[in-house]
Amino acid sequence: MYKFANQFAGTRVPLIYTLILITMAPQQLIKSMTSDTVLHQIADHIFSSTRLTPEQGIYLYDHAPVGYLGYLANHIRESRHGDRTYFNRNFHIEPTNVCLYTCTFCSYSRLIKKRSEGWEYTIDDILDIVKKYDDQPVTEVHIVGGVLPQYDLEYYTTLFSKIKAHRPELHIKALTPVEYHYIFKKAKISYQEGMEAIKASGADSMPGGGAEIFHPEIRDQIAGGKCSGEEWLEIHRIWHKLGQRSNATMLYGHIENSMHRVDHLTKLRDLQDETGGFQTFIPLKFRNKGNEMSHIAESTTVEDMRMYAISRIYLDNFDHIKAYWPMIGRESAQTLLAFGVNDIDGTIDDTTKIYSMAGSEEQNPALSTADLVKLIRAVGRKPIERDTLYNVINDYTDTVFEDDDKYKGYIGLPVTQ
Ligand code: SF4
Repeated sequence: MYKFANQFAGTRVPLIYTLILITMAPQQLIKSMTSDTVLHQIADHIFSSTRLTPEQGIYLYDHAPVGYLGYLANHIRESRHGDRTYFNRNFHIEPTNVCLYTCTFCSYSRLIKKRSEGWEYTIDDILDIVKKYDDQPVTEVHIVGGVLPQYDLEYYTTLFSKIKAHRPELHIKALTPVEYHYIFKKAKISYQEGMEAIKASGADSMPGGGAEIFHPEIRDQIAGGKCSGEEWLEIHRIWHKLGQRSNATMLYGHIENSMHRVDHLTKLRDLQDETGGFQTFIPLKFRNKGNEMSHIAESTTVEDMRMYAISRIYLDNFDHIKAYWPMIGRESAQTLLAFGVNDIDGTIDDTTKIYSMAGSEEQNPALSTADLVKLIRAVGRKPIERDTLYNVINDYTDTVFEDDDKYKGYIGLPVTQ
């Protein structure tokens, strides 16, 4: 509660009001924020750890003020994780941005007829990239890209086994159901057989991409013919039942409405009840540069805050909510740490183009470990380096960096005469 009230530090909110906020019981405080009795009932559900219904989820999207949502989301976040905020040291490899599919929100891919504008890495190209990190303490390589016939089952199983042979401890988080659905169909094998082969080749976990919006009313319009929502969920189900972990995402802020969002979250919550295999949910903000949906305005920062907070509140069986800083920007990621988020992803090292090509503020996303730590500490949270499976590698709460005493907050303003 203190951290949430502390977000108002430096604003014109009177001190006495801040003190009242800090001393009120959470149930009293939340009810003082709104006279809406439905929102009071929803808050009672949260404080008694009772699951929200889909109707209540839609009500939150349509009616809840951002302060109310932030307070509840932060309450859940601090009950589970205190101030602990996770990041990891990782790099991305995108084997190709040439793609058979035509997702209307995608700024990154190039069709086969324009493949000269894109890139297509061989296995040796990718191994050379992996070797560049040999002397660096990265723990994860994140591999996703476009869908093309030559990137088939043999390509990926060979790639994963060669990366493992070279650096066995490097966690391979690779490919989404979009790629898997295509390569298993091409290989004429079932999802079960395919995921067993992928696991045997050395892939450790799956990222959460390709989920977009599951509901066919929206998916059929934006997802360019790739796997359905049911197929996405089925591949994760099989992966979880093989004892492996994965993440989940939702692409929000374009043509979907509250019902579509809640339908998406409910399907994830149901699968998590069944398997327990999801680690983290990552809301992905639609960015509108250079794609077929450029005429649609992007969500505002307040809408982003509401989205992250509702994800934390509704997904009561997900441990972690992540703000992916290369997509949302580092300052928004900091703010979202008070809206239910407890993870801001990794060092990245300028190795992903997916969001920079879509107009993200982060055109060359890379942060050193010290920068990530300071970003988290600057908003009063505890920076914890984790591996992909959330084992703690280092607690940086009290770490002193060489340049800690250098004041970097001043920005020179032009002097006017
Ligand atoms: S979002 Fe993925 S599947 Fe869709 S066009 Fe872009 S690279 Fe291809």
